[in-house]
Amino acid sequence: MGSIRSLKCRECGKEYEPQFRYVCEDCFGPLDVLYKDVSVSKHTFETREKTYWRYFELLPIADKGNVVSLNAGLTPLQNADSLGARLGLKNLFVKNDSVNPTFSFKDRPAGVAVSRAKETKLRAVGCASTGNLASATAAHAAKAGLPCYIFAPSDIEHVKIAQALSYGAEFVSVEGTYDDANRVASIVGDSKGIGVVNINMRPYYVEGSKTLAYEVAEQLGWQVPDSLIIPVGSGAMLNAICKGFEELHSLGLIGSVKDMKIIAAQPHGCAPVVDAFKRNSDEVIPVEKPETIAKSLAIGDPGDGIYVLKRLKQYNGIAEEANDSEIADSILLLAKTEGIFTEPAGGVSVAVLRKLVEEGKIQKDERVVCYVTGNGLKTTEAIIGLLPKLNAVKPDAAAVSAMIR
Ligand SMILES: *Cc1c(COP(=O)(O)O)cnc(C)c1O
Ligand SMILES: [Zn+2]
Repeated sequence: MGSIRSLKCRECGKEYEPQFRYVCEDCFGPLDVLYKDVSVSKHTFETREKTYWRYFELLPIADKGNVVSLNAGLTPLQNADSLGARLGLKNLFVKNDSVNPTFSFKDRPAGVAVSRAKETKLRAVGCASTGNLASATAAHAAKAGLPCYIFAPSDIEHVKIAQALSYGAEFVSVEGTYDDANRVASIVGDSKGIGVVNINMRPYYVEGSKTLAYEVAEQLGWQVPDSLIIPVGSGAMLNAICKGFEELHSLGLIGSVKDMKIIAAQPHGCAPVVDAFKRNSDEVIPVEKPETIAKSLAIGDPGDGIYVLKRLKQYNGIAEEANDSEIADSILLLAKTEGIFTEPAGGVSVAVLRKLVEEGKIQKDERVVCYVTGNGLKTTEAIIGLLPKLNAVKPDAAAVSAMIR
């Protein structure tokens, strides 16, 4: 049996039974999962399955029989010495989460939330999505045999819609922004009893993303990195990664985490958290009409934005942005140096890393982990204009041979 104890308000500390509830009834603060004391050691995990479910005791599922797994997680932590050499870094690692079953890190939070929905016997699941969460939720729902309802802005990449539909989801294409889709999903989800993974299942959902911290620590031999570059949409993943490292420290599996440097990366066309950070303000002013090629980060009113700002204060943090052309260049730089093809969200991480190294805000000896969270095959339109145009040739060996230098 797993070890979930309660849901605790992040603002006022009030604790609740772990039920279908996601905000505090006193202060409307978000709820986080608390666990009973668990006894685990580094060896507990070593011999287990090569998925994020290896950390079962630290995830909010009571009964293993309810786990809905597509075998996501334990993705490569690639020693990025080629990219590092180009940027002037000696200890750069890329956490390549683009190779999950549905090709983004969203298999982590979606898998945990769908498992919890199964455990609590909800009749259906769903999500509000900028694209990747749609497929992650739909695929896990398919495996669980649950109906799935997706709410997403109509302008997301076609591949992401086709993929989610293929898993059998009902897709509601909303004329508007992500924030519009999110608002509709929230109302419909509660009234129809749908477990909307990133809204009314959010306390469980975010627990999946903290495995991005567990795996990096384990893959570094239970060491804490110096700097972490994390792309920010709603900010849930950045918060979860911090929570993950804190939990490992309190379990005695890693040393102090207080010297970690947390870096939030956003696209220029939708950077409300970066703007607040640069104004030195605690208030995140929503972006009404996000405009960026990094559609998975196009969340104008980030749910966890203020908590990202708190984390940056707590962890020597920096927030920085990258524009569309820097993002596209960085997608190609990562592909050409490391053989990793990412979507624009990953390009944002790499572009921000590049900028901070140039500005001397990241030093060459630091152990840096750059989170690359989604796959480039879903978003080829973002870089197609930068690639050579091809002209077909006759299958004539002499003519083709003359073309090769
Ligand atoms: C959703 C998403 C993010 C942002 O995650 P948040 O938890 O919303 O901050 C980053 N990268 C990719 C590829 C995503 O799909
Ligand atoms: Zn509260």
